[in-house]
Amino acid sequence: MALTFRHLFRSFITTQYPEKRLSTSRRIRGQQFVWRSDLCTGCATCAKSCPHGIIQITTSTNGDNRYVVDNIEFDTGRCMFCGLCVEACPYNALYMGRSYEQARYSRKLLWADMETLMDPANQVSAYGHPELEWRIPRQSLLVYGQISQEMVDEEND
Ligand code: SF4
Ligand code: SF4
Repeated sequence: MALTFRHLFRSFITTQYPEKRLSTSRRIRGQQFVWRSDLCTGCATCAKSCPHGIIQITTSTNGDNRYVVDNIEFDTGRCMFCGLCVEACPYNALYMGRSYEQARYSRKLLWADMETLMDPANQVSAYGHPELEWRIPRQSLLVYGQISQEMVDEEND
């Protein structure tokens, strides 16, 4: 009974997902990518650095000795979200996203095309880009076995 009462009066360590959500780590390697077409040079370093070879990129030249990216796609269904592609990008054009809710009924729907990669609703992670951390909400932490309830309330207000 002593054990039961101890648990009865301790703070909650669960939240009512999906109505309430905790903030993830600022450097989460989420299940999405964010691509900036304005910074991308079409060098394909990201595609070459991917151990699974799941980044498809096609480029053309515009007569100015520069590449134009015609298409870039990620087969996120085969991705292990290691982040190597983000780390390898020399022009800061590629970011991990913070979303972890990308479940789909079909593998085909897991392909992230250019439009998806550039979706303004995508939330950028600071993984590989620590300079972005100040713009991202703090993680709701389990502190000594208890969630900081203030943080949960802050996030769900
Ligand atoms: S996170 Fe890893 S597996 Fe996924 S696309 Fe990037 S390099 Fe490839
Ligand atoms: S490594 Fe970066 S700059 Fe090069 S193609 Fe990939 S996203 Fe674009």
